[in-house]
Amino acid sequence: MKCPKCQSDKNRITETIQHEEFTYRRKMCNMCFTLFRTKEEVYKGVLPQKPRKLTEPKQTEYQKHFATDLLKRFWK
Ligand SMILES: [Zn+2]
Repeated sequence: MKCPKCQSDKNRITETIQHEEFTYRRKMCNMCFTLFRTKEEVYKGVLPQKPRKLTEPKQTEYQKHFATDLLKRFWK
């Protein structure tokens, strides 16, 4: 759940209340400290598709160096 003020998704739950079929939560944004409330309910529909992330794990220079070093040693 995004913060209504700064749109950050970093927040913490400060209180959870179960009432009838819903779950209510009090949350606090970790970025701007705004307090907001959320309501959670059972959803029977299809979940929206997550945008697929095709990010390859980036190798740091050190990892690259380490990998080539390892290969060099292996083929010696
Ligand atoms: Zn915020």
